[in-house]
Amino acid sequence: MSRSSINAACARRQFLKWGIGASAGLGVAVAYPQLAAFAADLEDFIKGPPIPDIAPQRLSEHVWMIYATDGFPTPENQGMMSNITFVITARGVVFLDPGGSLQIGEMALRQVRALTDKPVIAVFNSHYHGDHWLANHALVEAYGPELPIYAHPVSKEQIEGVAGSMWHGLMERWTNQATVGTRIVPPNRTVEHGAEFDFGDVTLKVHHYGTAHTPGDICIEVVEDDLTHVGDVAMDRRIANMDDGSYVGTFKFFDELERNAGSAIWVPGHGKPGDQVLNWNRALFEGIYENCLEAVEEGLGMDVARERVIKDPRVAERANDTLGFESNIGKYVSIAYLEAEAAAF
Ligand SMILES: [Zn+2]
Repeated sequence: MSRSSINAACARRQFLKWGIGASAGLGVAVAYPQLAAFAADLEDFIKGPPIPDIAPQRLSEHVWMIYATDGFPTPENQGMMSNITFVITARGVVFLDPGGSLQIGEMALRQVRALTDKPVIAVFNSHYHGDHWLANHALVEAYGPELPIYAHPVSKEQIEGVAGSMWHGLMERWTNQATVGTRIVPPNRTVEHGAEFDFGDVTLKVHHYGTAHTPGDICIEVVEDDLTHVGDVAMDRRIANMDDGSYVGTFKFFDELERNAGSAIWVPGHGKPGDQVLNWNRALFEGIYENCLEAVEEGLGMDVARERVIKDPRVAERANDTLGFESNIGKYVSIAYLEAEAAAF
C-alpha cells in the first residue's frame, strides 16, 4: 500500500470514529479543494510526520542495516533510536526488528524498495521493547495482517499485554507525539530456540538461552553470512536497559552464542555492528556485576559498590564514549547489586 493510501485509510478510520460516513467524508474532500486541504491537516493531526530517510548500510551478502545514531528517543529523532536490520533473500525481504513507530517502519520500507522489488515476507521481533517492534504496523499496512511476525512466546505475550500498551504510550510521550498514528501490531507467530527458517539462499536460525536483556530475547543467526542479529542482548557503546534483564543471564547467553552461533559479525539493536560487540559489552557488565557481587559478599552497601564500579578500568575506560552513561550508571549498579544480593542468599 502506498503512503498516500495509508493516509487515506487513516483518515477514513478517523471519520468513522467521529460518526461521519467514509464515503461522505472522502467524497466531499475530493469535490472541494478547501476540504481536501482540511483533510490533509487532519492527517497531520492524527498521524505524526514522516521520518527523514537514512540510507541503509550493507553488512554482508544478504544483510542491510539502517543505523540509529541516537541512543534515546526524543522529539527531534521522532523515536529513531534503534537499528533496523533486514535480510534480502531469494524468496523476499525479512526484517529483524523494523523499528519503533509506523513512521519509522514506512521509512525503512522506502529504503528496502530502493534496493529490491521483492516483497517483505517475514518479520522477527527480537524482544518486547517498543523501539524494536512498534513499526510492525507499517509492514502489516503494506503487506496485510497475514504477514508472519515471529517472536519468543514471552515477547508475544508481553506485546499483547501491558508492555505493549506501555511502550506505545511512552514512545508518543518521549517523542512529543511524533509517533502518533502507530498501532500496536503484536507478533502472530511464536518461535523457540533452535527453530530454522529456509528462505532459499538464506537460512535463519533462532537462538534463545534464557533471560539476558529480557526473558523473551531471541537472536537470529544468518547462517550463510556468518552474522547474528543479537537485538539488545548486547550493545555497542550503550548500556542496555536492564530493568527486565539479568547480568548473570547475559554472561551465560554470550557464552552460548559464541559456542553455537560463532559469528564474524554481531549486529546489535543499538550501536555499531562488528566482531567485538559481545566482548565490549561483556567487559562492561563484568565491571559492573563483579564489583557488586564482591561488595555484597563483604557486607558492604550499594554506595560502596557504585564507587568501585566507577573506578573499575573496564567501566571507566568505557564511560566517555557510552551514550547516557552518566545518567544511567547509578541505576544499572543498583539493578546489578540487587541481582548479586539475590544470588548470594
Ligand atoms: Zn530493549
